[in-house]
Amino acid sequence: MIEFQHVTKRYAREATALADISLEIADGEMVFLAGPSGAGKSTLLKLIAAIERPTAGAVRVNGQDVGKLNRSGLPYLRRNLGLILQQQRLLQDRTVLANVMLPLLVCGASGSDAERRARAALDRVGLLDKALAAPLSLSGGEQQRVAIARAIVNRPKIILADEPTANLDRESANLVLDALRSFHGAGVTCVVSSHDEQILGAAGRVIYLKHGQLTDHWPSGASA
Ligand code: ADP
Ligand code: ADP
Repeated sequence: MIEFQHVTKRYAREATALADISLEIADGEMVFLAGPSGAGKSTLLKLIAAIERPTAGAVRVNGQDVGKLNRSGLPYLRRNLGLILQQQRLLQDRTVLANVMLPLLVCGASGSDAERRARAALDRVGLLDKALAAPLSLSGGEQQRVAIARAIVNRPKIILADEPTANLDRESANLVLDALRSFHGAGVTCVVSSHDEQILGAAGRVIYLKHGQLTDHWPSGASA
């Protein structure tokens, strides 16, 4: 379970990114975070991953206050999270397979075990045939699916995806969402941000943000 209790986040000398947010995301849920650019979606995801810490209030993941984690607690949290963040690009000088193997090797898996599991993860996102390709030779949507494979290869309980369909055409966006949904179907909690109203139309639970506050619908007059 992910729990926000009266969470406020202010960056230094900036306006408030999140203002007094309280919400709960149950284990196994698939939740979309919606709202225009600047609404606070990335900030909310970064607070869950303890990449940022709340200015006030508490963020709990499975009962643990992640804003108070120390250096030794962070790796444990992160092992249970699959992150698909905007700034985390694939390594261009390595194959798709090597990119997906990397989190396993970092955690001490043997090369053969890492390769088997990375191939299984690529198979799940429909890209096994691209295992030996260079990331740059793939389409934007395929690169996002590789990023999903890399994020889930360690079998995390929670996936956090920040705008995974940004800049993709409709068909590629749907394939990316299908990949996320298949892990949701296998019991993984998914929190996915998007400013794409069409995607949200087909989504289940949607949490709308506007100027760092919760709102119960797509903010009218907001442009993406
Ligand atoms: P979204 O993901 O919905 O586009 P963000 O969480 O990225 O929204 O941003 C929310 C607000 O916080 C924006 O006003 C943004 O400029 C500000 N912000 C985000 N990250 C930083 C940062 N590292 N330093 C200062 N301000 C930031
Ligand atoms: P493995 O035995 O290597 O885990 P699987 O075929 O069971 O092979 O899984 C395929 C890939 O999907 C693996 O790389 C695994 O890490 C990843 N995965 C992550 N989370 C799940 C999940 N909840 N259910 C199934 N597979 C998952």
